[in-house]
Amino acid sequence: MSRSPSGEGGAKVSPMDIFERLESEVRSYSRLWPTVFVAAQGETLVDEAGKRYIDFFSGAGSLNYGHNDPAMKRRLVEYLEADGLIHGLDMATAAKRTFLERFDSIILGPRGYDYKVQFPGPTGTNAVEAALKLARKATGREPIYGFANAFHGMTLGAMAVGGNQQRRSAPGVARSPVAPLPYDDGTEMNADSIGVIEATLGLAEREDRAPAAIIVETVQGEGGLHAASPEWLRQLADLCAAHAVLLIVDDIQAGCGRTGTFFSFEPAAIVPDIVCISKSISGYGLPLALTIFKRELDVWDRGEHSGTFRGNNAAFVTGAEALRYWQTDELENAVRAKAKRVGAFLAEIAEGQEAARATPRGRGLFQGLHSAVPGLAEATCRAAFERGLMLETSGPDNDVVKLLPPLTISDEALERGLAILAESLLAAADAAAPGAGT
Ligand code: PLP
Repeated sequence: MSRSPSGEGGAKVSPMDIFERLESEVRSYSRLWPTVFVAAQGETLVDEAGKRYIDFFSGAGSLNYGHNDPAMKRRLVEYLEADGLIHGLDMATAAKRTFLERFDSIILGPRGYDYKVQFPGPTGTNAVEAALKLARKATGREPIYGFANAFHGMTLGAMAVGGNQQRRSAPGVARSPVAPLPYDDGTEMNADSIGVIEATLGLAEREDRAPAAIIVETVQGEGGLHAASPEWLRQLADLCAAHAVLLIVDDIQAGCGRTGTFFSFEPAAIVPDIVCISKSISGYGLPLALTIFKRELDVWDRGEHSGTFRGNNAAFVTGAEALRYWQTDELENAVRAKAKRVGAFLAEIAEGQEAARATPRGRGLFQGLHSAVPGLAEATCRAAFERGLMLETSGPDNDVVKLLPPLTISDEALERGLAILAESLLAAADAAAPGAGT
């Protein structure tokens, strides 16, 4: 039976009606981008009305290779048509074997990492929970320290090590024994963050409550695009080693090439004890997460951490294909060139648009503009959407416009997107200027 777009009595129904009426108030992206999307390819999304949008969001970092990558799509369709196994818990499958072989030969081996791989469940926060549990089991200690403004997911364990006050104080979230550690955020207040971390670890040791691990993002994706320097990361890794505290890098958003290298910590030349990966690891936006760790940390007992959706074989198929991007340095070089262009552009508009009181942040294709004008970052994202560009905000006060284009974006689309961003920032700053609209 077909249904007419009109409501009863012929009243016109808004295309957003069912979402507003039936879907929980918790929804957020459909409020920022109030339209109904129907298709996507590469860096472009299309809505029901046929309007096209340039994607500077990339599924919150899950679509580093753009939408519906043709080679991944081909592999997936072939696999589906051959009735390839889709659901497999942690059974051995040919699709998982190919993924593991490629992950080993293309990613781990050439970088000299002797890690073991765990599939902890479908999402990033599953990878974090497994990492926290494993660190506790391997060290026999309980506390895990996280950083101010950090984000590691929405499960209770991950929220307990996050740095967002509001989320940390939500009912049921375990209280961490120490305040979030100071991050390398470029502020004067945190200039000696390593000294503070060292003192915190020293005190905890003396009081016999040393932590099992420290969990860190190399670039704080949700926390406002603060990018830790390689030197700071090295000092943090040295400090952890000196105190026998495990270092967990949450590379869920910064990894899979977002900052230029496959792992975001490669420029720091560190070897974290545990690494969490998700988002773009399947390459196609299909749920997949990995917790990888040094061989000697594999202290799990059989079945000790389980989950029904650990074996997403469709994601193994597309993920194995996605890893081909890393067989040469072509993508890495392209990301470096585009990142340079984005950085220069952001510096230019920050300088040219004084009213926006903006400062560039981030690294790689993981950059953004912080604005000291309240509400301006969000108003810029709304203005950009009207002009056909999808961007979201980041930071505890939503004060950063975050640029997350696909790593594979064409130069032409990148330039168009940047031009729309500049125009949107100007329009938002004009609207926010004293006397505007009066
Ligand atoms: N860790 C980081 C750094 C993230 O950015 C996110 C999600 O944005 C997560 C963990 C949680 O991942 P998921 O939303 O897939 O659970």
